[in-house]
Amino acid sequence: MALIVQKFGGTSVGTVERIKAVAERVKKTVAENNSVVVVVSAMGKTTDGLVKLAQEISATPCRREMDMLLATGEQVTIALLSLALQEIDQPAISLTGAQVGIVTEAEHSRARILEIKTDRLNSHLNEGKVVVVAGFQGISSLDNLEITTLGRGGSDTSAVALAVALGASKCEIYTDVPGILTTDPRLVEDAQLMSEITSDEMLELASLGAKVLHPRAVEIARNYGMPLVVLSSWSDAQGTTVVSPTPKPRSLVGLEITKAVDAVEFDLDQAKIALLRVPDKPGVAASLFGEIARQNVDVDLIIQSIHEGNSNDIAFTVVKGMLNQAESVAEAIAPVLRSEKASAPEEAEVVIEKKVAKVAIAGAGMIGRPGIAAKMFQTLANVGVNLEMISTSEVKVSCVIAETDCQKAIAALCEAFEIDCSPVQNAHTGVNEGPPVRGVALDKNQARFAIKNIPDQPGMAAKIFTQLAAQNISIDMIIQSQRCRLVKGVATRDIAFTVAQGDAGAARQVLEDLASVIGFEEILENRAISKVSIVGSGMIGQPGVAARLFAALSEEKINIQMIATSEIKISCVVAEDEGIRALQAVHKAFNLAGSEKIVVPA
Ligand code: ADP
Ligand code: ASP
Ligand code: MG
Repeated sequence: MALIVQKFGGTSVGTVERIKAVAERVKKTVAENNSVVVVVSAMGKTTDGLVKLAQEISATPCRREMDMLLATGEQVTIALLSLALQEIDQPAISLTGAQVGIVTEAEHSRARILEIKTDRLNSHLNEGKVVVVAGFQGISSLDNLEITTLGRGGSDTSAVALAVALGASKCEIYTDVPGILTTDPRLVEDAQLMSEITSDEMLELASLGAKVLHPRAVEIARNYGMPLVVLSSWSDAQGTTVVSPTPKPRSLVGLEITKAVDAVEFDLDQAKIALLRVPDKPGVAASLFGEIARQNVDVDLIIQSIHEGNSNDIAFTVVKGMLNQAESVAEAIAPVLRSEKASAPEEAEVVIEKKVAKVAIAGAGMIGRPGIAAKMFQTLANVGVNLEMISTSEVKVSCVIAETDCQKAIAALCEAFEIDCSPVQNAHTGVNEGPPVRGVALDKNQARFAIKNIPDQPGMAAKIFTQLAAQNISIDMIIQSQRCRLVKGVATRDIAFTVAQGDAGAARQVLEDLASVIGFEEILENRAISKVSIVGSGMIGQPGVAARLFAALSEEKINIQMIATSEIKISCVVAEDEGIRALQAVHKAFNLAGSEKIVVPA
């Protein structure tokens, strides 16, 4: 007899009829000789409704009381589903997170799961009952029973964690779409179902705006090798399998707080090319990278900082052997990219750095833990290493540094993150197979900050991001300008980054407090942005993917405000009101459209 964990989301249990349909499906799974643990969300939009009620009373409600309030939503559903199962002669019992013993950190509203007690679950399963567990909630300790929640969308994480703790054969996530699609079908009507996706790709998509899975659910599945399937509550179709690499053995204690960093990686075969003062208008990135792709040169990291006046900087890395080709393309294109500022026409300038290295920390445990990147920056600052470029993904932070600093950077990182095995040279965590672009995502919930004139010395990024991390603010894109500006005789650069809009107020406060300490003057904030991203492990070593993305945006006359990449994703910040059009254009450009119409319930 196999044990299966099945999770049903809000829409799937949104009405009494739907709850009855879920009960039938669960009973059918039991009839196929399985034990079943069911995890459910609150009915429909119940959680949103509860949040609204609290906001009518307080603009800044206390997080403990919010958890107390929001946890009630799931409690309604577990009781109703249990009743529905009993009504069709399927023995069942409902349990809250506290009754199961889902022990979490004492962090209200964003608690990570530490451990799940399985005794009570197993004894009910042994009695032949289906156990219906409230998703999204836990308790901070078995003694004080303080109710915690895992963060919005967290029932997926409850389900996968329960599957891992119980040693289930698989975890099935039932939702209101047929599985994981190439993008959100509510925004792009010809989004297409994929039969499988790697956990690395899904981690990126989930954190770049595809809310079909909670990123931490993917992280747990990946860390423990739990088979994970996303499927439709309304049909019997196959859905999408999330494929994870064979995991390293891990303890079930500290389930969601396993080691943050699994490996330190380095790459000496890198050269950096920066184009300074290119015009800030649609089509520039497209023509530069289009020409580079025509030369069959694969670019690794690409960043474009926020514009200054009328111009931008774009920097990218290539393997050293390709430097000459890439350089001649950049040199040829630079004079064409003349700024249109009539008063002071500036010419784009190409700056080459042959002697750079890339060092990176990698591990799925760093997801949603803002302190990890900050710790990397601090570690490098402590040994006097200056950061030239920073690239972040959900499972990796990479920094481009001077080649001569590589050795000491690796030694310091291995020590700081307790990596005793030798670092991995030229490693890629992604698998270089599958389509170059698996899916695209839109995140309209970001705010961008830019800090002007930060002294160009080791330790500046560390100071800023350590303070932000101390407030639990997760940073998404981080981009340093390539251009140095002399302010009162001190070389300075700008740093721009994006955060979730909900964290923008707190981020601004941190920056304002830091301004006098670090000595920068200006903080720019923009909430009217959208981030459009492409994700695919097949883009590694494949020239032309970035060029196609930029061309698609250029054809739509959409200006790219920022660019950041990791090995398996490229993200562009565009104006908020151009986000959906950008997403649709990019989805089309990579031929992701399907012929089957996806029906999305209200
Ligand atoms: P549930 O309540 O079942 O947890 P969610 O609303 O959290 O459901 O997630 C499902 C929704 O995610 C879909 O209705 C869809 O609009 C959205 N979505 C965004 N990106 C994707 C994607 N790439 N694939 C599928 N659904 C997506
Ligand atoms: N009910 C919670 C929410 O709406 C958790 C979930 O549905 O996953 O965020
Ligand atoms: Mg969800």
